[in-house]
Amino acid sequence: MENQKTISEEGLEAYKTAGKIAVEVREWSKNLIKPKSKVLDIAEKIEAKILENEGAGLAFPVNTCINDITAHYTPRYNDETVICDSDVVTIDLGVHVDGYIADTAYTLDLSGKYKEMLKANQLALDKAIDLVKPGVSTTKIGEVIQNTLTESGYKPIENLTGHEVEQYDLHAGLSIPNIPISYDQKIVEGMVLAIEPFATDGYGRVIESQLAEIYSLIKKKAVRMRDARILLKKIENRKKLPFADRWFSKDINPMKLSLVLRELVSKDILKAHPVLHEKEKGIVSQFEHTMIVTEDGCEVIT
Ligand code: MN
Ligand code: MN
Repeated sequence: MENQKTISEEGLEAYKTAGKIAVEVREWSKNLIKPKSKVLDIAEKIEAKILENEGAGLAFPVNTCINDITAHYTPRYNDETVICDSDVVTIDLGVHVDGYIADTAYTLDLSGKYKEMLKANQLALDKAIDLVKPGVSTTKIGEVIQNTLTESGYKPIENLTGHEVEQYDLHAGLSIPNIPISYDQKIVEGMVLAIEPFATDGYGRVIESQLAEIYSLIKKKAVRMRDARILLKKIENRKKLPFADRWFSKDINPMKLSLVLRELVSKDILKAHPVLHEKEKGIVSQFEHTMIVTEDGCEVIT
């Protein structure tokens, strides 16, 4: 791998703008997480708030994960799920400006029982960020995350990782593990990284559920179904950035939309991203920041 990556001036500016919007919306969104509020309303309000900013797009559908639901859960168009007063709620949001992505997440504990877990999780992220600079091995970062969480009596989710981002590419090149897996990969100046430790009082692994609400394009191919063509046309300008089927439930009859999505997945045109939940139904938290690797450290943009 090369020793340096270059980001254009415009790219750098776009990352910072995306980061600024992501921070504003993230902080604003915390007031929405209350008992009795519908997750559908929360997701729609956050997405609308991002889109109020000229030039800003959704890097992926807002994730609203509750308790043991760990990732890839965004509400369905008719989702009636309501936040309860004992829930642990994670909001993961992504903003892009011209394809340059800022990815950030936080957890709120409405039960008051997981203060220590959230504190350890935040500390794990802070310590990981402190380590980031050119030449550092990703194994080292995974080790610090794992140690910080286990010292507090919790576990990282071992099969979820942070990731590099590139223009219109949410999960590019490098992975940042949450355990010391020896990939033997080194951080390089000019990389943009999203680091996202997950903490749990469960087993420390996620498994896939049957349900998927988030999809992304693998490769465009000719299709015959009319609604499939409408859908592919609508996601064209997102390139391969993920989308929610909810976004199109007004343009395509939801029953038909389900069929179309299944068809496109079976043809390897779309990839489904199933909802992930903790293997032993442990409670999960997540904190995430995006950063640009500089000559001697990093600049957190979120
Ligand atoms: Mn994220
Ligand atoms: Mn991420």
